[in-house]
Amino acid sequence: MSTNNTYDVIVMGGGPAGSSVASMLAREGRQVILFEKEIFPRHHIGESLMTDTYWTFRRMGILEKLTDSPFVRKYSVQFANAAGKESRPFYFFEAVHHESAVTWQVTRAKFDHLLIDHAADQGATVHQGVLVKQVLFEGDRAIGVEVQMQDGSREKFYAKVVVDATGQMAMLSNKFRWRVRDPKLKKAVLYSYFKGAHREPDLNGGATLVLRTEHGSGGWFWYIPLEDDITSVGIVANPDYLLKGRGQDLAKIFEEEIAKCPPCAKRVAGGERVDKIYSILDYSYRSKHNAGNGFIIIGDAYGFLDPIYSSGVLLALKMAELATDAIHDAFQHDDFSAARLGQYQTKLDRGIESMRKLVYAFYNDGFSFSGFLRKYPDERFHIINLLIGDVFKEGVDAVYGPMSEFAEIPPPLYEQLDGTLVPQMPTGEESELLLTAKYNSFDDRSQVQTDGAD
Ligand SMILES: Cc1cc2nc3c(=O)[nH]c(=O)nc-3n(C[C@H](O)[C@H](O)[C@H](O)COP(=O)(O)OP(=O)(O)OC[C@H]3O[C@@H](n4cnc5c(N)ncnc54)[C@H](O)[C@@H]3O)c2cc1C
Repeated sequence: MSTNNTYDVIVMGGGPAGSSVASMLAREGRQVILFEKEIFPRHHIGESLMTDTYWTFRRMGILEKLTDSPFVRKYSVQFANAAGKESRPFYFFEAVHHESAVTWQVTRAKFDHLLIDHAADQGATVHQGVLVKQVLFEGDRAIGVEVQMQDGSREKFYAKVVVDATGQMAMLSNKFRWRVRDPKLKKAVLYSYFKGAHREPDLNGGATLVLRTEHGSGGWFWYIPLEDDITSVGIVANPDYLLKGRGQDLAKIFEEEIAKCPPCAKRVAGGERVDKIYSILDYSYRSKHNAGNGFIIIGDAYGFLDPIYSSGVLLALKMAELATDAIHDAFQHDDFSAARLGQYQTKLDRGIESMRKLVYAFYNDGFSFSGFLRKYPDERFHIINLLIGDVFKEGVDAVYGPMSEFAEIPPPLYEQLDGTLVPQMPTGEESELLLTAKYNSFDDRSQVQTDGAD
C-alpha cells in the first residue's frame, strides 16, 4: 500500500515490457503502480514468441496460466527461399532438452490482457485508460509522473524509479533525443488474418514460417498459426518496393504479393481473409542510454530491431528482468543514479547486437540458412540457439565468423554510425506528424499513438 500517491516504482505502459517488470517487482516485494493508456483487450502486432521467454514467464509466475491458455504451441521455425524451396524446420528441442523448448503463438490482445491482469494479481496497482502526460523531474532526476485519469482529471504520482515501457512512443528517449536509427533497417509491413488457411499436422502445425518473396523486394511473409483456426499473415519489405507507385488499395497490393509468393499463396488458398489490412512503417532504432537518474527505459521504448525472428517480446521481457534486478540493487544501495540503474546496458546491447547480425544476414540478397548450413553443418546448433533467443550466452557470436563468408555482418550500431553522424528519430511534434501522415495514407490507425509525449 502506498501513501500520498507515492510508490517505489511507477511503470508507464502495460505492454509485455511494462506488465512483466510490474509483475516481477510486485511479486518480489516492491510497491508498484502501472499506467496504461488503453483499455485492454486492444489489438497489437507481435504474435510469435521465442522460447527463451520461458525463463521470464517462470520468474513472473505466469507459466501455468499460459499452459492453460488456448494459444498454439510453437516447436519450430521454418524458412522458404524466393524459389519456394523450404528448409528443414529448425526444432528448438534439437538444442534444448527441457520444457522451455516449446513456446506459444499468441493473439496479442489476449496475451497482453493476461499479462496486465497478472501484474495486478501479483500486487501491482494497475490503471488502464490512464495516459501518462509527462514525467516529473527535479533537476535531472525523475521523481514521478503526471497522468490524465479516465474522467479527464490530472493527478501526480511519485516514486524512486520511473520505468518507461511506452513502446514505440518511447517517451523518455524521444524527450532526450536519444533514439538513433539503424541506417539500413526500415521496412513497410502489410498484414491481416485468415480463417481456415493451411495448417501442417502435428508438431509443424505451430511453426512460424518465414517465406521470402522475389529477389530485390527485400521482403518476406510471416505465416503464424493462432488459436481458433486463425492464421496471421504479413509481408515485410522495402517501403519503395511495397508501396511506391502502387496506389492506396492495400488489399490489392497484399493480394498481388501473396500471388507472387507460391509457398504463401498455396497455404492461404483454402482460407478466407477475416480482417482488414493493417499497415506499419517500421524503423529499427535504439536509445543511446537505457537509464537516467531515477528512470529506466525498457522494451520497444529502448529499442526495436526487426520483425524477423520474432525477437521483440523476448527482448522486452529480458529488459524487464534486467531492469527488475537493477531496481532491487538501487533500493539496496539507496542509489537511484543513472549509473546504477543502467548498469546492464553493455550486456543488453551485446545481446541485441547478436540478434541484429542475424537480421542483417537474412536481408543479404542470396543468403539462405540452408546454403550456409550445407557448408557449415555444425553451426546448426548455434543458429538454433539464436532462434530460441539465447542471445546473452557467451560465445553465441562465434557463428558470425563463418557466416561472414555468406553475408555482410555489421559492426555494432554506434560504430556503424561513426560517432557524430547519428541520424536522430524525429521527436515530439515532428514524430506525431510523421505518424499521422504515414497512417493517413493507409487505412489503419489502430497503432497510432499521438498522445503522451511531453
Ligand atoms: C510488423 C511487426 C511484427 C512483429 N512481430 C513480432 C513477433 O512475431 N514476435 C515478437 O516477439 N515481436 C514482434 N514484434 C515486436 C513487438 O510487437 C514489440 O517488440 C513488443 O510489443 C514490445 O513490447 P513493449 O511492451 O515494449 O511495447 P508495446 O507492446 O507497444 O506496449 C507499450 C504500451 O505502452 C502504452 N503507452 C504508450 N504511451 C503511453 C502513455 N503515455 N501512457 C500510458 N501508456 C502508454 C501503449 O498503449 C502500449 O500498450 C513485431 C513488431 C512489428 C512492427
